[in-house]
Order: sequence, then C-alpha cells, then structure tokens
Amino acid sequence: MTHPGLTDRFGRVHRDLRISLTDRCSLRCTYCMPADGVPWLQRDSMLSTDEMVRIARVAVEMGIEEIRLTGGEPLLRADVVDVVDRLAHLDGPHGHPEISLTTNGLRLPQLASALRDAGLARVNVSLDTLRRDRFHELTRRDKARRDARRHCRRRGGRSPPDQDQRGGHARCQRR
Ligand code: SF4
Repeated sequence: MTHPGLTDRFGRVHRDLRISLTDRCSLRCTYCMPADGVPWLQRDSMLSTDEMVRIARVAVEMGIEEIRLTGGEPLLRADVVDVVDRLAHLDGPHGHPEISLTTNGLRLPQLASALRDAGLARVNVSLDTLRRDRFHELTRRDKARRDARRHCRRRGGRSPPDQDQRGGHARCQRR
C-alpha cells in the first residue's frame, strides 16, 4: 500500500522539510540584513543538533522525502557535516531522505568534499552577480579582496592594491 504521506487539512501532501541551521551569515545582502547590529538568536533558543534530528526523524517517518538546509548561511554551523550525515541516514517509508542545501558558497571550497561524503545530494548556490563591484555593493563584503589577502598571507607577502587584482589572481607584494 502507498504511504498516505504528511497531508494537511486541504489535502495537500507535504514531501519536503526546510530546516534553518543558523540565523548568521558571512554576508550582509542589502535586501536581507541591515549592515550592522543584527540581533542574533541566543544559542539556547535554537534547536540543538539532537533536537533537530529528532524532529526530522518524525517527519521522515511520516513521509518526508527531502530535507532542505538553509540559514542564514548553513555552512557557518560548526557541525554542518555531522548534521548532514545524521539526516542522510534517517529512514522512512520512502527510504533515506534526499538532503539538499542552499548556500552563498563562501565555505564550499573547504567543505564540499566532506559534505558529499556525508550524503549531501544537491547544492543550490545563491549568487546575485559575477561582477565584483556589484557583489560588493549588494553584499557589503569584498570577497575578492579578502581572498587576495589570505592568498598573499599564505605566501608570506601582503595583498596588492585593488587595481593589481586582476582575473581573480592577486599579485602579492613583499612585506
Ligand atoms: S547570503 Fe543569503 S542569508 Fe546571507 S545576507 Fe545574503 S541573502 Fe541573507
């Protein structure tokens, strides 16, 4: 027999569950957050990982097939890989849920492999523009400049003036 699923009083069957892992973000998009002074949620008012997994388990057992992780920026949650691993191993009438994640992508270089190994099936990267000046304007953060600084620090130099950061490759200057 087909599982009836999670059905609301209008007869709609719900197949996916969205979980916000954090209210924090590394960007400050103009349409989303004020530039400063964001009143973050207190840690003890947020679900612990155990509580989150427990709620998701009930939902999956009731027929939820997909769990979408969002934020804020979900990759800022310190145990995000563990969260994905635990959610991906839940089991319900439709088998394991598909785990997907929406991110601004800034921490993907460090976390993508581990997330895939933990069971992440899909990633949606939110990117409003490929133009550096517009990205800076929209997000109030200069990602390219920050990357250039890190790149040069690793090589024992200092980052160049803006006009020398071409094509995403910084020409580091000696200290
Ligand atoms: S990246 Fe997303 S969550 Fe972060 S400030 Fe921008 S719109 Fe908001």
